[in-house]
Amino acid sequence: QIAFLGQSVIPLVNKLQDIFAQLGTGAASIDLPQVAVVGSQSSGKSSVLEALVGRDFLPRGQDICTRRPLVLQLVQTVRREHADRAGDVAEWGEFLHLPGRRFTDFGAIRKEIQAETDRESGVNRGISEKQIRLKIFSPNVLNITLVDLPGITKVPTGDQPTDIEARIRTMVLSYIKHSTCLILAVSPANADLSNSDALQIARIADPDGSRTIGVITKLDIMDRGTDARNILLGSVVPLKLGYIGVVNRSQEDINSNKSIRDAVSYEEQFFRSRPVYHSLADRCGIQQLALKLNAILVKHIQSILPDLRARINAQIVTLQKELVGYGEVTESKSGQGALLLNILTRYSKSFGETVDGKNENMSTH
Ligand code: GDP
Ligand code: MG
Repeated sequence: QIAFLGQSVIPLVNKLQDIFAQLGTGAASIDLPQVAVVGSQSSGKSSVLEALVGRDFLPRGQDICTRRPLVLQLVQTVRREHADRAGDVAEWGEFLHLPGRRFTDFGAIRKEIQAETDRESGVNRGISEKQIRLKIFSPNVLNITLVDLPGITKVPTGDQPTDIEARIRTMVLSYIKHSTCLILAVSPANADLSNSDALQIARIADPDGSRTIGVITKLDIMDRGTDARNILLGSVVPLKLGYIGVVNRSQEDINSNKSIRDAVSYEEQFFRSRPVYHSLADRCGIQQLALKLNAILVKHIQSILPDLRARINAQIVTLQKELVGYGEVTESKSGQGALLLNILTRYSKSFGETVDGKNENMSTH
């Protein structure tokens, strides 16, 4: 079983939405933070995002691939009890610039991202701050927005303007400056961390490091005799939320269409076969990054629960007043409200335990 972004959070969010639906408060949405990737060109940003989502659909490569911000909205479609039956999972993508057209082939999504990038920013490495907006519909995702950003480069090539670096920095900052944006600061392990563009720009947007996670890529191509142990331990550049080291697919793997599943098992085997990482298992692998993000999202939901509870309380008071106005009728509606409040309170406790890791398999029934 491969862990992916949102996995453990989906049942909790679903439960909350059920509660709101039963109360008849309409579509009470639970706003989750955005997740954006930053770093220098070819550090592995698109690779990390793709692995988190668990689908192959982003352009990746050695040259500048991501030349426009890609705003990726995951949208949960109606849940079905046994949606995991073979062939029963309907997933598709839709672009804002191509309304009504459903892409069920994720390879075609990648081609369209490339084509639309070329349309706006030319074929010669030009960049543009105009977004590409893509929605992925699936029964198995959390409603969350991910942003893939162009990498920071220093020397203009092709059609790039002379101030390319400043332009990209401004563009990146405009996304990550928001206090609700989680920053994945991606740095390759084969370059000195003190030169990391990712950490440098993340620090500008998030000086106290409360929403920056360090992601170290390319652990497989470090100089012989070196390892990323000290980086992952935070002793090179300390980071409050810490670091996760990953091994993404290499260019050769991309060329030979290596699947996500194979990439995950290769990564597992990589870390297993290197004793230097054995004591750092919770900081190694894309799966650990997904788990870390999920824990942060659960914590976020926990922090908004008091507000949700207050809203439900207010709802109950209104309902009770309404009932008094009708004379006797039944107690059932307000009784139902109280019951829901009770459920919510219990869940709030479970959330806490999940965050603390005491409640790995929280039941949603
Ligand atoms: P981005 O420009 O930051 O979005 O980087 P990409 O995800 O497009 O990756 C750039 C290149 O680096 C691609 O050729 C990837 O195959 C390669 N790459 C990314 N991560 C890793 C990694 O962990 N190990 C290896 N060997 N190659 C990687
Ligand atoms: Mg990219």
